[in-house]
Amino acid sequence: MKVGFGSVGFFRRACSFLDAPGDPLPSPSTLFLVGNRDPACQVQALGLLRYPVKAVPKGSRQKGSKCRFCRIKHGLASECRHQKGEVIDWGVGIRSFWNGMTEASGIQALLEFLEENNGQRMKMFDSNERHRADRRSTAIISPYVRFGQLSPRFIVHLAKKKYGHRVSQTFLRRLVWRDLAYWSLWRFPDLPTVSFRLQYEKQTWNPDPNGTLLKAWQQGKTGYPLVDAAMRQLWVTGWMPNYMRHIVAGFLIEYLNLHWVHGEKWFHKTLVDADVAINAYMWQNGGHSGMDQWNFVMHPVFAAKTCDPDGDYVRRWVPELRGLSNSMIHCPWQATTGTLAAQRIIFNKTYPARCIVNLELARKRSHEAVMVVRRSEEGKKCILNSGHEIKMLHGGQRAVLITRIDYREGKISTRQTADETRDPKRRVPNKGNVFGSIMKSEMEQYERTSQLRSEQMY
Ligand SMILES: Cc1cc2nc3c(=O)[nH]c(=O)nc-3n(C[C@H](O)[C@H](O)[C@H](O)COP(=O)(O)OP(=O)(O)OC[C@H]3O[C@@H](n4cnc5c(N)ncnc54)[C@H](O)[C@@H]3O)c2cc1C
Repeated sequence: MKVGFGSVGFFRRACSFLDAPGDPLPSPSTLFLVGNRDPACQVQALGLLRYPVKAVPKGSRQKGSKCRFCRIKHGLASECRHQKGEVIDWGVGIRSFWNGMTEASGIQALLEFLEENNGQRMKMFDSNERHRADRRSTAIISPYVRFGQLSPRFIVHLAKKKYGHRVSQTFLRRLVWRDLAYWSLWRFPDLPTVSFRLQYEKQTWNPDPNGTLLKAWQQGKTGYPLVDAAMRQLWVTGWMPNYMRHIVAGFLIEYLNLHWVHGEKWFHKTLVDADVAINAYMWQNGGHSGMDQWNFVMHPVFAAKTCDPDGDYVRRWVPELRGLSNSMIHCPWQATTGTLAAQRIIFNKTYPARCIVNLELARKRSHEAVMVVRRSEEGKKCILNSGHEIKMLHGGQRAVLITRIDYREGKISTRQTADETRDPKRRVPNKGNVFGSIMKSEMEQYERTSQLRSEQMY
């Protein structure tokens, strides 16, 4: 028997539940604390915010050794300026970005999103504008949702109270994705570590013996400015926008050809909103082995046309490149020697050279690694005539899983290059299979009923 994942049960029910959130309960007037805990205990009191640096005094620094705080090598033009014994506050970027992480700041962030410019930010969510990294284009509330200061129920309630059926459906759908991720982890607890499409456990990846590529990616030193900007934003603030998460994940998996588990672990360690379910669900999808395999691969220069057209995001997070023009900021390797000299940019001294140059070839390698899995005995058993893959479930049931056109056809056709203009048709999700059509009908039903209910309620 063949079933799609949505019909297995929970997701459909979860969606209908989300359709009808009642008013949130009033806040309790008193809270009873268990045990003897001090309710006013602050993180500062735990001594977790400050990290004393034991830097070597400037004169006696060994050339090539690294500062323990910023990991910059001594003896370089961009030498670190940390002094011996200096006290460094690791949390400063995170605290200032998240405004204390209280319930009040969560509600404030949500209200700003809903009300900014007469609701323009929320309205733009349904357009490509939500991909912009150079401005606040999404709600920026995920840590509050992660830690429970904001509940999805409260978010839906407030959004609908303000806008009724005019509320951005794309925004509400994000909360449905969250439920889907939670259901997936509940149903498949190995999700953070084991390929959901089990045959992909056998995929071979770039061994990266010294971990050089992984480190370059983690530290925002790949030589691709957009990727570096996002990874540095993550390090400083503990967050990056959704679109950037797709770009850096795709870069790690498709171009560096490194196992998605490395990305999942790094995100889990550095994200303030690190969520076991969502993080694993997304990385599996990016890493070919997930329930909803991504049907696109973003090119780091091409993607910048959508999310950072004027280069402001890169200028903010990669200040070494600040002086470059808009046409060069995302591809400094194309700048003339004169331009680079004028901006004091020296590759591998002030800014890293590209850690990998031939992106096309890298993609071919990663595509071939997936094709090897599909051609294996185990892989073949999981492929339908349509080229989509299946997962065997208990009781002989099988679920059809969206599979990227590149793998179905055995050739790369979702190609983006730096010079291309954007073709939105390339990103239309595949609806021609069981899972896709169930998802589509779930969404349509969700949208229909939520509109009805919001009309009844407000
Ligand atoms: C590789 C990768 C890893 C990710 N890891 C996490 C993670 O660990 N924790 C996390 O909360 N989100 C994760 N996401 C999803 C998404 O990127 C963030 O939720 C979003 O960027 C948070 O910003 P926001 O609050 O402005 O979200 P908005 O876009 O304004 O959405 C509102 C809320 O919906 C939820 N949401 C948004 N996108 C998704 C999604 N794709 N799946 C499930 N829920 C979503 C979040 O709670 C978010 O706060 C990941 C995405 C990718 C591509």
